[in-house]
Amino acid sequence: MRGIKEELEEIRQHGLWRKLTPYRKMGGQTSDGMQQFASNDYLGLAHHPAITEAFQEGLRIHGHGAAASRLVCGTSHAHVALEAAIAERKGTARALTFSTGYAAAMGTIPALMGKSDFIIVDKLSHACLIDAAKLSGATIRVFPHNHVEKLGKLLESIRSQHGSEPRILIVTESVFSMDGDIAPLREIIALKQSYDAWLLVDEAHGFGVFGEQGGGLAEELGLQQDIELQMGTLSKAAGLAGGFIAGSSALIDLLINRARSFIYSTAPPPALAHAALRSVELIASAEGRALRKQLQTNVCILRESPVSSLLTPIIPVILGSNENAMQASSRLAEAGFVVPAIRYPTVPRNTARLRISVSAAHQESALHALRDQLKRLASC
Ligand SMILES: *Cc1c(COP(=O)(O)O)cnc(C)c1O
Repeated sequence: MRGIKEELEEIRQHGLWRKLTPYRKMGGQTSDGMQQFASNDYLGLAHHPAITEAFQEGLRIHGHGAAASRLVCGTSHAHVALEAAIAERKGTARALTFSTGYAAAMGTIPALMGKSDFIIVDKLSHACLIDAAKLSGATIRVFPHNHVEKLGKLLESIRSQHGSEPRILIVTESVFSMDGDIAPLREIIALKQSYDAWLLVDEAHGFGVFGEQGGGLAEELGLQQDIELQMGTLSKAAGLAGGFIAGSSALIDLLINRARSFIYSTAPPPALAHAALRSVELIASAEGRALRKQLQTNVCILRESPVSSLLTPIIPVILGSNENAMQASSRLAEAGFVVPAIRYPTVPRNTARLRISVSAAHQESALHALRDQLKRLASC
């Protein structure tokens, strides 16, 4: 039998070794004085006092654990209120929360799609979307990143070969997690409508960051009504944990009946939902808008570009080899910046990169200092 040690050796030899580095604080700075450019805490809410207080209040009201699945024990008011708030921000009839974004994907896609159906995914979609598509048993087709024309050809060929009966689900992200670019949602929606397909948009990195109320890129572009499944997570800009799907009432009923990661998993702590409600409200408030504005300002400083509403806070610096990326990351660490090296299989082979994520919590001086460090890296 092939041993574990040999497998680990193989990972090491390919320059793909991963290890856990002890805790570093989120927001602008780490506890050891490093500037944190690795976290997805885009608005600096992971340590926001009002959300901390809401979490503590939630603990006092609801205690620690939910103790069972929501279908078994009954559903806490905290979850119901949170889901109503998410649905409101997403402009949908209802929403359903899961313990993580990963679990939301794993429960939702197989609940809707089966053997006789087709899922068309953007090549750079997050691992949870790919894993969920595989689990569903549907036929998977991949289109090159953001390539609307190829997507159209795939839709055309599926409908012409298999008729109008099979379900087709198009899966993409709004803001791509490792490239920081955005999906051509308007064009994708036009195609989806002409071929009678459904669309799932994962807004993990759009929620809180875009839109007047922080609903995400779909809100920013006025497209929320045209997307059947709006997926998101409360673990990034919202600063907590938990995933969600927003959509029609029928969709949510189906998920409650069929999504296995929802049905067979203990509900997340109601206290967490209580805090998440506060976070969702804060994101939609004037304070949330001010934080988004600050975030845009910070992104513009680092990107050295004029203000535009669709600049994302994820900035990749593609270096190619794993060694180059690891070296650049450690050089930045020596200079006081936490900037992760991202390697295969998170990104395609030979596209290893630094992934910088900007937060509203960053100080202007830190942004300038990182920009200088990056220039120094580029010149050597
Ligand atoms: C982080 C992430 C997820 C998973 O969300 P979690 O709540 O962390 O499980 C899903 N999709 C994308 C694009 C992500 O970046």
